[in-house]
Formats: sequence, structure tokens, C-alpha cells
Amino acid sequence: VLSTMQDVPLLISRILTHGSTVHGTSQVITWTGDDEPQRRSFAEIGARAAQLAHALREDLGVADDDRVATLAWNNAEHVEAYFAIPSMGAILHTLNLRLPPEQLAWIVGHAADRIVIANGSLLPLLAPLLPHLKTVEHVVVTGPGDRTLLADASVQVHEYEELLAGKPTTYDWPELDERQAAAMCYTSGTTGDPKGVIFSHRSVYLHSMQVNMTQSMGLTDQDTSLVVVPQFHVNAWGLPHATFMTGVNMLMPNRFLQPAPLAEMIEREKPSHAAAVPTIWQGLLAELTAKPRDVSSLQQVTIGGSACPPALMEAFDKLGMRVCHAWGMTETSPLGTVARPPAHAVGTEEEFAYRLTQGRFPTSVQARLTGPGGERLPWDGEAAGELEVRGPWIAGAYYNGPDAEPLRPADKFSEDGWLKTGDVGTISPDGFLTLTDRAKDVIKSGGEWISSVDLENALMSHPDVAEAAVVAVPDDKWGERPLATVVLKEGATADFESLRAFLAAEGHVAKWQLPERWTIVEAVPKTSVGKFDKKVLRRQYAEGQLD
Ligand code: ADP
Repeated sequence: VLSTMQDVPLLISRILTHGSTVHGTSQVITWTGDDEPQRRSFAEIGARAAQLAHALREDLGVADDDRVATLAWNNAEHVEAYFAIPSMGAILHTLNLRLPPEQLAWIVGHAADRIVIANGSLLPLLAPLLPHLKTVEHVVVTGPGDRTLLADASVQVHEYEELLAGKPTTYDWPELDERQAAAMCYTSGTTGDPKGVIFSHRSVYLHSMQVNMTQSMGLTDQDTSLVVVPQFHVNAWGLPHATFMTGVNMLMPNRFLQPAPLAEMIEREKPSHAAAVPTIWQGLLAELTAKPRDVSSLQQVTIGGSACPPALMEAFDKLGMRVCHAWGMTETSPLGTVARPPAHAVGTEEEFAYRLTQGRFPTSVQARLTGPGGERLPWDGEAAGELEVRGPWIAGAYYNGPDAEPLRPADKFSEDGWLKTGDVGTISPDGFLTLTDRAKDVIKSGGEWISSVDLENALMSHPDVAEAAVVAVPDDKWGERPLATVVLKEGATADFESLRAFLAAEGHVAKWQLPERWTIVEAVPKTSVGKFDKKVLRRQYAEGQLD
């Protein structure tokens, strides 16, 4: 028997309509580098999203399912595109502006993007790329930037504000199928070719509700969220959609992502929440140490994308900013787990340990661990295996062009359709995930596994160490051994011997796990989304650059 409930599709246009009316006075505040940031209310964003949809449909001929790409920082116009494009029935494709140009061109071609909405400041990146973007017919430019760079382009160039001017401020959003494609994002390609993940209206809607749960970020219209995580990095972890559900103000850093302007933004606009990968927070910490500022408004800092080093969490605690660790990936929309300690641990010694885990699974993310032989492992906090997940906002395949069957590679999806995350760890009986490593980063030494993350965390707890990345390198005797690459703090004096002694003495790691290969580097290479780029480190070592 079917229910007697109304069958109302879960659509992004509903989130927009709700946010721009019920929370019409909430704001998107965009940093401009001038005295005053740009402030735009949710009501204005709603009106302008309608204008953008009219412009895309009527002036640029955008049809259902057309891919409209953005090459943009986090700012108000990008939020408008976030809502207008899927709400009208087209597909938003956020481009990662930090990818190497060849990879960007490959992705645009693979997605067959017809239109690119680009920030003016990114035209130096886009202009030389355009001859290689064969599917792109129109470029729409927002904000300041040198337009003459596009003078020779063979595409049609439009001014965003001119397109919007005079268009109706309402749009009759179509009643779409909630399973329809809404937005797409390519994985940042830590290994192999980037893979396209397509989010549906339904998955975005349900994911946004989860982001808003108290056990997740739990923000309200009294909050302001500093959205440092880029809108091209898995939908800024769902924040633009989630904030329109609950009226959370968004503080958008635009291109001002360096530690000094971030510190200034926090001091001046007093956000209560912020979200970014650990490397951003390491940079901010160094900045605040050199130049203290009042950042006490930040009550919650969501950290994810890579493991949060314990030393970083401690340092932030001391500054009065409470870190909340979370895990996810492009394929999981990205929210997979959030580390909110259970009631019994709050206020006890156990609390910190719980906060350092990757976190607890919400209702809609089912999880299981698979051992090396394909066997199911128990949730006992001991048995370590590959994490597999399933749920309404978890990818079940990769995009392979409009007319091709979606891709389901066997190393990414189990036969019964679960996503194989490539992450290795344990799950406790109460559903807390602790990752020991990525399957491809773990160091396989003489039949035993060494966690690169454990070594890194131990090293980063040394007062002289700013950053540390550990990778597996080939070893004649053991198969693989760890190579420690270390960035020292300014004026620090530690050498390999003392660091090794520190690791051994603190009881951080077992003796057989201690690295015998060390190198000091100026900076650890980073991926396009700011994670340690271990692929580059392994290559540099192979080429003899790290001896
Ligand atoms: P890429 O795989 O290209 O880096 P993603 O941004 O989708 O792109 O990265 C997802 C991966 O990042 C996860 O599979 C996991 O390995 C890692 N990750 C994300 N959050 C955490 C975390 N809190 N702790 C450890 N690893 C994390």
C-alpha cells in the first residue's frame, strides 16, 4: 500500500525560494579587498538568480541538461549561478581553477560544457585555455578583470551584469524530476584521470538537511559561516545550499585566501563558523602566532579533506576556536562523517580522542569495512579494512558522457553497488570512523602496514615542525619504507637525529616504523584543493630530488 502523502520532488529551486523569502534578509558577504565588503541579501540573490536563469535561457539558449560551467572564487555571483543553473533544469559544473590547464581542458571537453561563467580575475587563466575548449560557445564575465584578454577569443563574450539588467526578477522554476542531474564535480584526480560525479536535486537537498543537523554543522540564522573551502571543491561541502535552508549568513573570501586577509576577515566580520582543509588552518595559525588578532567569534571550525593533525586541534582549542573534524569525498557529496563526541564522553578525557576520529556516520550513510580477502570486518574499533559506503547522497557510478553508460569501475564500486572509498580504517561499535590511511598511501613494510598519517601527526606535534608528509618509497629489503619530508618552522634547529629521537621517545610510533630516510623541504607540494600531494613527493624521490 502506498502512503497518502503528497509526492513533492526535492528540488534546489525550493531551497532557493525558501532562502530568498523566509531568510530574505540573511546575507552573502563577499570580500573585495576594499574598505567594505560587498553585501547582498538572500532576497537579492534570489532575484538575481531568476534574472540569470532568464538570461541563460533567452539570450544564450541554454536548454535542459546543458552543462554551464563556473570558473570562479567563492562570491555572491557564484552563489547565484549555484541556484539559477540547476533550478532552471540545466547542470552546474564547477571547475577547479587550480588544476593544471591540460586537465581543466580535458574536463571541460569531457563534460561538454557550453558556457563558462568566469570571474574577471581568472581571465589570465581562461583566455589561453579557450582555443582548447572546443565545446564552449559563450563566456560570461563577472567582476573586475582585464576583458581585453578575450579580444581574440572565438567564443561570444558577455558581461554578467549586462545580461542580468532588465530581466524579470522572478522565474517560473520547472517542476523537475528530483533524480535529475543538478550539479557536477570532477574528483581532483589524486590518481588517474579525473572522474565526474553528478549530484541530483534529491541528493543535494537531503545532503543539505544533514549539514544542518545539530550533529553535523548545526548552524542557524544567528550564524555567519566563513566559507573558505572553495565552491569548486565538492560544492563547498554543501554550505551554499545548506545556508539557504536555515538563513546562515555566508562570508565569502573571493580570491583573498591568504592567511593575512583571512585573519582580517575573521576579526572584522566575526563569523561564528568556518570550513576548510587543514593546510589553510596551519597557515592561519602561523599568521595568528606572528600577529595576534581577536578571532574569538569562531566557535566552530569544520576541518576535513585530510586528517586533522592533533597538534592543530590543540592549538586552535587554545585560541578558543573549536575544531570539528569531518570526513568525506567528492563521491559522498561530501559529508560522510562528523566527529561530534557522544554524550558520555563530553567533559571527560575521552572527548579529545573522539574529536580526533573522522567522526560518526549519520543515518543516511551506511558503512561497512572490507578486509584484504573481501571479508566483512566487525565494527569493533580494532579490525582495519577498506571503508565502503552506501546512501542517498553517495555516488553509484561516474559520468561518461550524455549518451554513454555511466562508469562503474570494479576498484570503485562493489558488485552490490557500494562505493569503495579507498580509505582504510576502523569503526567503533558506536559508529565512529578512524582512518589510518588511504589505501594508496599506506606504507607496506615487510608484510606490516605503517600509517603515513600517524607518522605525520607525530612529527607535526614537534614544536619545530611546521608541516610533515610521509610517503612510501621502494626498499630492497622491506619492499617499502617511509620517507619523511619535513618543513621546519622559521628559525627552528631540529635535525633528523633529534626528530627521530622525538618520535621514538614519545612512544609515538614503534621502533620498526621509524623512518630512516629524511629530507627537509621548503614546502610540502599541495594538490589543487590544498592537500599534501604525495604523488609529487614520490616522483621527486624517484627522480633523486629529495636526497
Ligand atoms: P581527492 O581524492 O582527489 O583528494 P576528494 O576531495 O574527494 O578528492 O578527497 C577525498 C579523500 O580525502 C578521502 O577519500 C580521504 O582519503 C581524504 N579525506 C577527506 N577527509 C578526511 C579526513 N577528515 N581525514 C582523513 N582523510 C580525509
